[in-house]
Amino acid sequence: MLYGPRDVRSEERPDPTIVEPTDAIIRLSATCVCGSDLWPYRGVDPVTQPVPMGHEYCGIVEEVGSAVRNIKPGQFVVGSFFASDNTCAICTAGYQSSCLHRQPGAPTGAQAAYARIPLADGTLVATPDLPPADLIPSLLAASDVLGTGWFAAVAAEAGPGKTVAVVGDGAVGLLGILAAKQLGAERIIAMSRHADRQALAREFGATDIITERGDEGVARVKDMTGGLGVHSVIEAVGTPESMMQAIRATRPGGHVGFVGVLHDVEIPGREYFFSHVHLHGGPAPVRRFLPALLDLIWNRKINPGKVFDLTLPLDQVAEGYRAMDERRAIKALLLP
Ligand SMILES: [Zn+2]
Ligand SMILES: [Zn+2]
Repeated sequence: MLYGPRDVRSEERPDPTIVEPTDAIIRLSATCVCGSDLWPYRGVDPVTQPVPMGHEYCGIVEEVGSAVRNIKPGQFVVGSFFASDNTCAICTAGYQSSCLHRQPGAPTGAQAAYARIPLADGTLVATPDLPPADLIPSLLAASDVLGTGWFAAVAAEAGPGKTVAVVGDGAVGLLGILAAKQLGAERIIAMSRHADRQALAREFGATDIITERGDEGVARVKDMTGGLGVHSVIEAVGTPESMMQAIRATRPGGHVGFVGVLHDVEIPGREYFFSHVHLHGGPAPVRRFLPALLDLIWNRKINPGKVFDLTLPLDQVAEGYRAMDERRAIKALLLP
C-alpha cells in the first residue's frame, strides 16, 4: 500500500473475491515494482488516500467467475496492466489497452499474494503447462516491461536495415533493445551512462552505447548516422528532455515509439511540423503481443527476466521501491 510520498507499507488485507462473473482470482507466483510506480512514490503523481500498488503479475488461477469460459483454475497465466475483453473493435485492431471495456488489470493491486483480474477470458493468457521456476521472472516481465518495450519497438518500426536508438536504460528501454534485436534491427544504439545497464544493453543486442544526453546525445546520434539521425527511436522515459531527444534524434520520415508515461511534455508545434517524424505510443497494448512473447520465453529464445537484479520477499516491498528510486536496482522482483 502506498500511503504517501516514499511511504510504502506491507500490510494484511482481506483476500480479493470474485465481484463480476467475468473475474478470475489468481495466486501470484511473482510480482514486481514498476518504474511507473515511482511517479506516485516520488509524489509527482499525488496520493490522497492509501492505494494498493502493483500492476504486473503472473500466477496460478485459483477461482473463476460463472461467465469465464476459457481460463480454468490451475492454469498458469499472465495478464497486463489493463484488463480488456479482446473482442471489441479496438481490441481486434490490436489496441487492447484502449478496449471499450478497459479496466485496471489488477484493481486490488498486484503487489500482493492474490489478485482479482477482471475480464479474465480476454485479459489472461495461459502457458502450455506449469512453468519451471527459472522461467517465472521472464514470464512476469512479459506482463508489462517486455510487452511495453516490444510495443515501443514495433511503434518505432524497428526492423531489418534499420538503425534504432533507445532513450532510457530502465527495464522497458533495455527490453526495447531486446525487441529491436528480435525484430531484426541492424544497429541498436543504447543511450545509457550506467555501466551495469550498458552491459545488459549489450547482452540484449545493443551495438553502440552513447553516454551523452539531451542535445549532446542528439549530436552524437547524428555523428554516427552520417548527419541524418536514426530510422527509429524508442522513448522509454517520459520527460520533456527525453521526448525531445527522441524526436530530434530521428531522421525525417523516421518513427518514434514512445512508452514512458509523459509528464509535462509539450512538443513545439512548428519544430515538429518540419521534422517529418512519426510519433506513435501510449500505454502499450501488451495483450496483443502476449501469446508470441510467452512462446518465445517458453522455448527459451529470449531471457527478459534478466532485468530483475533484486529479489525480495513481498513484505520487504518498501526496500524494492527504495532501491529502484535510488537507481541501486533496475527492477525489483517480489515473492509473495
Ligand atoms: Zn509496469
Ligand atoms: Zn475490447
